Amino acid sequence: MKEHARVVVIGGGALGAGLLYYLTKEGWTDVVLVEKGELTSGSTWHAAGLIPHFIGGLSMAKLHHAGSELYKQLEAETGQATGWHGCGAIRLGLTDDEVDWFRYVKGTLDYLNIESHLLSPSEILEVHPLLVVDDVKMGFYTPTDGHTDPASATNSMAIGARMGGAEIYRHTQVLDTRLKDTGEWAVVTDKGTITCEHVVNAAGSFARQVGEWVGLDLPIVNMKHHYLVTENLPEVAALEKEPPVIRDPKASCYYRQEQDGILIGPYEKSGAEAWGVDGIDWGFDMELLNPELERLEPSLELAAERIPCWSEAGIKRVVHGPITHTPDGGFLLGPAEGLRNYWLCCGASIGITQGPGCGKYLAQWVVHGQTEINVRDMDPRRYGKWACGDYAVAKSIDEYQEMYQPALPGEFRDVGRPTRVTPLYDRLKELGAVYADTFGWERAKWFAPPGVSEVYGFRRSNWFDTVGEECRAVREQVGLLDLSSFAKYEVQGSDARALLERVCANRVPGRDGAVVLTQMLTALGGIESEATVTRLSEDHYYLLSGAVAEIHDLDWLIQHINPGEAVSVTNVTDKYGVLVLTGPQSRDVLASLTDAGLENQDGFTWMTAREITVAGVPVRALRVSYVGELGWELHHPMSEIKTLYDGLLDAGRDHGIRPFGTYALNALRMEKAYKAWGTELTTEISLVEADMLRFARKGGGYIGAEVVEQKQRDGVDIRLVYCRVDADDADAMGNEPVYDGDQVIGITTSGAYGHSVGQSLAFAYVNTGYDVAGTSFEIEILGKRCKATVLAEAAWDPQNERLKV
Ligand SMILES: Cc1cc2nc3c(=O)[nH]c(=O)nc-3n(C[C@H](O)[C@H](O)[C@H](O)COP(=O)(O)OP(=O)(O)OC[C@H]3O[C@@H](n4cnc5c(N)ncnc54)[C@H](O)[C@@H]3O)c2cc1C
Repeated sequence: MKEHARVVVIGGGALGAGLLYYLTKEGWTDVVLVEKGELTSGSTWHAAGLIPHFIGGLSMAKLHHAGSELYKQLEAETGQATGWHGCGAIRLGLTDDEVDWFRYVKGTLDYLNIESHLLSPSEILEVHPLLVVDDVKMGFYTPTDGHTDPASATNSMAIGARMGGAEIYRHTQVLDTRLKDTGEWAVVTDKGTITCEHVVNAAGSFARQVGEWVGLDLPIVNMKHHYLVTENLPEVAALEKEPPVIRDPKASCYYRQEQDGILIGPYEKSGAEAWGVDGIDWGFDMELLNPELERLEPSLELAAERIPCWSEAGIKRVVHGPITHTPDGGFLLGPAEGLRNYWLCCGASIGITQGPGCGKYLAQWVVHGQTEINVRDMDPRRYGKWACGDYAVAKSIDEYQEMYQPALPGEFRDVGRPTRVTPLYDRLKELGAVYADTFGWERAKWFAPPGVSEVYGFRRSNWFDTVGEECRAVREQVGLLDLSSFAKYEVQGSDARALLERVCANRVPGRDGAVVLTQMLTALGGIESEATVTRLSEDHYYLLSGAVAEIHDLDWLIQHINPGEAVSVTNVTDKYGVLVLTGPQSRDVLASLTDAGLENQDGFTWMTAREITVAGVPVRALRVSYVGELGWELHHPMSEIKTLYDGLLDAGRDHGIRPFGTYALNALRMEKAYKAWGTELTTEISLVEADMLRFARKGGGYIGAEVVEQKQRDGVDIRLVYCRVDADDADAMGNEPVYDGDQVIGITTSGAYGHSVGQSLAFAYVNTGYDVAGTSFEIEILGKRCKATVLAEAAWDPQNERLKV
């Protein structure tokens, strides 16, 4: 066994083997994989092997596609078959919402040139004659889907990795991982210790336990999952060719042909169970769980109605094993918080599909520091401590049970909630707040009239008019919003400025009380993060980021502190509440509660901050507004939030003050053409594509500067445009394809209806040439082509006059 390696991967399932393979493709050959049993002997060997393309997000669709593409061609490279069956797949849609969902996903797949078709019930029967489809409205057919033999596919990736120089140690158990004084990792096994630069936790069901060695509490839960294989059936034997895999939301099952029988995999809609929550015996290897068929009966009865020919058949095989799940159903791919060169590649619930894609993009990340896709939804640092323990278990069970149900925009199921609330939670509820669960935080989406519940869906719904009223209140009078979910940090020390100048692309504020918006870039120029920086003193700065960025940005800042630098970064998110008071009458409201001067002539101008007292509460007031109006963010001790909120609401009554939520916030920022981190601003692009060069510091000197300058000189292939859309009952949400005739020329990143300007608005990345103001093209929203025209400037107050009054 080697004593040194550049990378050690712990775990030889589909994810570990996929990563090892792609590390060698990236040119890193000094890489090893350590597996305590045989390759695949965790969850991988017993999986059903389905490889779907039906997936909502753009990056996830790319990642799934990487899997099917690799499995189709890997045998030619390695000589080891992957067991690929290219039979296609159909997801059945039973409701209008599912049909909308299908249209939405189809747009994303069309953009990626992944073949898909929407089938009528009779067309479904042409490709799968054994089904009953009386209750089906539409089928989503992906002919390039298929299934693979998970063990063969994983071994094929392992062979490919070995051919590329990697080594694999089987029957070798990792006992510990320790950080050495040199900054390297010691991977301690029962056969010796390997010192390495990077260590990767790809330990599947054991990933939580492996993470505990380095102090991680990973929100991974093993869910029990079955599939059954029937005896051979004459109806199946008589089929001319293998029918597509079927995903059936009614029975919550998948079905595929297995020899001349049918393989049926139910995701129980209730009563699903977690397994090994308190830990799994390290000896669990190549094992299955005892069948628990009673739980499956409701699903199996419906499955028999869907494919009647199997209802009398005997069951010849039952497979019951653990699958890793996380609270949001996504895997953990990327750096572990607070640990240098410790990577996570685990938590996948459809890991046979995702193994190659996880490997491909994590290998890019490890080797180059950045991936070619937007990984924000995959990054383990989207979670914090709030996501672990009982929350992880409850959410994972719920995710598993809802696996085959439509994911409707706006819908946040109640399980595990509320987790992170401010003391205003009940108060806002009384006012009608309809909450979303955003990275653990409860945030009001909108304020519903009494007795009204939100109708979820892909189209404008019963919130639309009320959100319009909230927007108009902000534009014409004054609005109040609890945005305490902002991530907040104190950066302090004599080297605080040096750290910020290194990581921030914009200039770091040079005067006390100055506020600056900045992006943080990777070494390859991708937009890694965005923060608002307020200078409190020369060696003390207050940083704000989005709620989802709380752990990510903390980690990013800390990882960029150079050895010996005198600087600390403290996460103060929970310590401070934030109330946003904004609108033309916000100054009058605030003035009635403070003695502080709030006028421009008092020096309290746009993009400055002051410590003031409001309603007796000490407040750090930042004169900034994400909605583009006169306004303040009032940062204050969280314990005082009720006093401040009630004071503002009372003082604002005569000014028509109105609480507003995040739906209105999004619509208002779209009117101002403000770009958002994670949608418009991602690591896939730089400040050049994003049309954000005004935020790039002259003279460079920050991480990623050379790339930005190079792109400025050389030009780029795509650019972000802001456009007006002729939409009717549905607005762009992001991931809709953009067309010039039949040619796909771009993709949207977000959108909303601008109530104050009476226009539907969207951001999109389009091929250069289409980015000139006045250019028209079409955006396909839920299957309908809508004319879109590039705007030269923000639809609302392009000169920022309202912000500066
Ligand atoms: C019944 C069933 C059907 C499924 N069907 C599908 C499907 O159709 N399509 C699909 O995409 N997915 C399917 N899955 C899910 C899929 O099996 C998993 O998502 C996938 O196998 C996870 O792969 P992994 O590499 O993360 O984990 P694993 O395959 O569990 O690999 C982790 C490995 O790490 C090793 N390990 C752990 N700790 C140590 C240590 N300390 N030292 C050394 N080695 C260690 C383990 O021995 C194990 O081999 C199914 C799962 C089940 C249970």
